[in-house]
Amino acid sequence: MAKEEFTVTPYEVKGRVDYVRLRELFGTQELDALLLERLRTMAGGELHPLLSRGIYYSHRDLGWTLDQYAKGNPFFLYSGRGPSGPLHTSHLVPFDLCRWLQEKFGVPMYIQITDDEKFWFRPHLTRAETRKWGMENLADILAVGFDPKNTHVFFDTRSIGAMYSLAVDVGKKIPYSTVKAVFGFPPSTNIGLVFYTALQTVPAFYPSWVSGRRTPCLIPCGIDQDPHFRVTRDIAEGLGYPKPALVHSQMLPGLLGERVMSTTGEQKDNALFLNDSPKEVERKLRKAFTGGRATVEEQRRLGATPEVCSVWAAWRSKFAKSEAEFTQITADCRSGALLCGDCKANLIDRVHGFLDDHAKRREQAMGWAESLIIERAPAGAGGSAPAP
Ligand code: SF4
Repeated sequence: MAKEEFTVTPYEVKGRVDYVRLRELFGTQELDALLLERLRTMAGGELHPLLSRGIYYSHRDLGWTLDQYAKGNPFFLYSGRGPSGPLHTSHLVPFDLCRWLQEKFGVPMYIQITDDEKFWFRPHLTRAETRKWGMENLADILAVGFDPKNTHVFFDTRSIGAMYSLAVDVGKKIPYSTVKAVFGFPPSTNIGLVFYTALQTVPAFYPSWVSGRRTPCLIPCGIDQDPHFRVTRDIAEGLGYPKPALVHSQMLPGLLGERVMSTTGEQKDNALFLNDSPKEVERKLRKAFTGGRATVEEQRRLGATPEVCSVWAAWRSKFAKSEAEFTQITADCRSGALLCGDCKANLIDRVHGFLDDHAKRREQAMGWAESLIIERAPAGAGGSAPAP
């Protein structure tokens, strides 16, 4: 563990993360009030709650990306998922923001399903399982509300025909020592994971590669994923592509009071999965860690502490429908007007409603998800170097 008493890599988050310090360590920029205001104006006067409530808090080159948009060179969005099991609500954080950006800016979305990576990374997973989870996860992601006419999917083992030529160019630019240093791979790491870095880079360059025009890329992701894209950014200009811009979120805490919503091993109760039954949702939320007091009398008198509460984190990141509602919940929690039992009951209702709606949208998305998978690059792709 680093002297900062926390460790954050794409494969591991340990300790109590100091997000300001992490931003300094990673060398990213603060997503400050000025830039948020600019985003609000360009989006027609609104900000997504994930932005206004400070869950996205850091970036690389977002200002440049907005400059390009204003000059008539719109960005595209890129995010992905390593399919190893069902999604939980915190997995939707990047996709919720992408959907909003797609709607407000009318830009294309590229989703990468990394069934290869999860097969290489998780010893117990079979190819059949990563493929199955890949399609299931894709339907959940599309159910967030992406525009199918403006959304494209790389499903790695199925899209390799479209990706491989560009991955070959990328692979030549990334030294093994970089991958080893950035990800901390031990000598026993399989070579699939080493090459995977090239495949994760492909979507960030693909639209430029296909069109021959330098097309800005914007990647919303958890800040733990920043090291992957630092490698991508380091080699971008050398291949003639713009460096992808990033906007980073904090990691959401788990329901059991863990600092991160990890669900490996015995920690399934740490998160709300999109396929949880209503009973499961209720059971998990009833036992969720809160910032409440030991007794009702104390809480009425002294109030509670929302910042440490996993239930408040759920309201903040997804379930409060308006700024007014979120502000009210926070104020009532602090003052003692709201008790944890009532707060949890309200959230249980809200989550049940969300999961019902989500299941319907997911079923519809299952019908057209296949049609979005890119299997071949268009004829002539990569034929000319991107022009500035
Ligand atoms: Fe958390 Fe709600 Fe209790 Fe406040 S009242 S500590 S937000 S459960």
